[in-house]
Amino acid sequence: MKKIFAVALIIFSALVVEAQCQEKYIDLHLHLDGAITPGIAKELAALQNITLPVSNDQELEKLLTLPEDSQNLNDFLKCFEFPLSLLQTPEGLRAAVRLVANEIQSQGVIYAEFHYAPQLHTQKGMTQEDAVKAALEGLKDSKLKANLILCLMRGSDNDAENYQTLELARKYLVKDGGVVGLDLAGAESLYPTQNYEAIFTKAREYKIPFTIHAGEDDGPESIRAALSFGANRIAHGVRAYEDPEVVELIKNSGVSLGLCPTSNRMTNAVPDMLKYPLMDYFYKGIKVTINTDDPAIEGTTLHEEFEYLKHEFGLKDSQKFIMLENSIEAAFTTDEVKEWLRREIF
Ligand SMILES: [Zn+2]
Repeated sequence: MKKIFAVALIIFSALVVEAQCQEKYIDLHLHLDGAITPGIAKELAALQNITLPVSNDQELEKLLTLPEDSQNLNDFLKCFEFPLSLLQTPEGLRAAVRLVANEIQSQGVIYAEFHYAPQLHTQKGMTQEDAVKAALEGLKDSKLKANLILCLMRGSDNDAENYQTLELARKYLVKDGGVVGLDLAGAESLYPTQNYEAIFTKAREYKIPFTIHAGEDDGPESIRAALSFGANRIAHGVRAYEDPEVVELIKNSGVSLGLCPTSNRMTNAVPDMLKYPLMDYFYKGIKVTINTDDPAIEGTTLHEEFEYLKHEFGLKDSQKFIMLENSIEAAFTTDEVKEWLRREIF
């Protein structure tokens, strides 16, 4: 009897593993510097002859992940300092794109858009353009279907750098297989979205698709501003519920919200995860998509994000597939790639 039970258990475990392997995901909101796992960090350090600032794996893990008791988005932004130090040479950046692509591909991701800010990769003499070229090489080295989104950074003294990023996005813009759009990231409540109207007016003139981090650390007015600039997508938008008018505005615009449950929990973007508004937005007809944001810093994967929603909010498979279809529709890629994604997933 014991033997039959053991065999049944093995078969059941194999089926579970197979089911997990078969699941296919899309990540439209993943930051390269937030996806550097301890394993990737070690490879990048070895490649560039960089001595790690810690002596064991446990300390390395601590250096690369956000503590559970983090207070806010600014604490969170500090976690990027070490991974960024490994992404300051063309070899490092190129290898990081390949390694992160391989890592998420092994977790079931079949299409991703890597967000990164070229201006944060110039500490050792790379120009922003070098940083774009290096990441493009990294894409070519990987088998994952992926694109790049260049982030503008919120700040008080980096206007020139942001405009340079804008011009690079214009220069390298393609429909697929390279730079496909812009984003605005950084400390949202310190540097409000409203300050960035002029640069996104230019982006619109240049016909560059863009997403904006809004309604994460700052409130609904940030989302309202992003929509008024013509954002094609909102990254997060989780705090829209604070103004029902903004919720209605998002719904009527058809713009998708790229939610990242673990990230939203860890940065305290919502005070109570039991009231996480994702399913409310979904039932209202808003096009929500599920993403990881910074999978290494938060220690998550897309599989885990969907499992969390299933267990905490009763997400059904049919609803999950609607969210994946939302991701396909919102992706900055060609209709051909979108059709391929539909064939792969449904
Ligand atoms: Zn983000």
